[in-house]
Amino acid sequence: MPPLEELIACILSQHTSDTNSHRAYLQLRERFPSWQAVMDAPVGEVEEAIRPGGLASSKAPRIQAVLRAIAEHNGGKIDLDFLYQMDTESARRYLLSLPGVGPKTAAIVLCFSLGRPVIPVDTHVFRVSWRLGFFERRVGEAKAHDLLQNIVPEEDIYAFHVHLIRHGRTICKAQRPRCDQCPLADLCAYRRAMLSAPQPANVSTSAR
Ligand code: SF4
Repeated sequence: MPPLEELIACILSQHTSDTNSHRAYLQLRERFPSWQAVMDAPVGEVEEAIRPGGLASSKAPRIQAVLRAIAEHNGGKIDLDFLYQMDTESARRYLLSLPGVGPKTAAIVLCFSLGRPVIPVDTHVFRVSWRLGFFERRVGEAKAHDLLQNIVPEEDIYAFHVHLIRHGRTICKAQRPRCDQCPLADLCAYRRAMLSAPQPANVSTSAR
């Protein structure tokens, strides 16, 4: 996806399912013939178009503010193709300067649209990483991005991201990680801590 489309899709995907955000994105594109039309429309019309994605009343003005900021920076043109010419750090800084765009959204655009070696830290990547012991859980998702970026070789970043998401969705689940099926169990700090934690004493339930 081109970077502007990736960015808008990413804003729509926040706090909702893939299915709902996809529907919201399709409705937005069907309802308005151009990004200029999205920017100029009454905010209520944009809100209506993206309603299936949830939080429409906050996402609609944010999308319009992002489009206005891009048009202002880009001599009235509403696209992000100029990012292709920028080095990764400059492109990241520009994306972070847009209203409501945080490190995760910037990383998604850089990684998936521009093909840059940047790790988007979503909830799965964050959880699997701290459980494996790459960093302490308390560092938070924003700082986790920089820590992972320092330890994963550039050429492995895309595969690392994709595999950690798959692992988090299928095995290292948030509520009940399937450690007995996990090929990384021998390497896992969380698993080691669980095994060495004192076990609750058995309570006899038999009647006396
Ligand atoms: S051993 Fe358990 S906690 Fe550790 S990565 Fe595997 S599933 Fe996750």
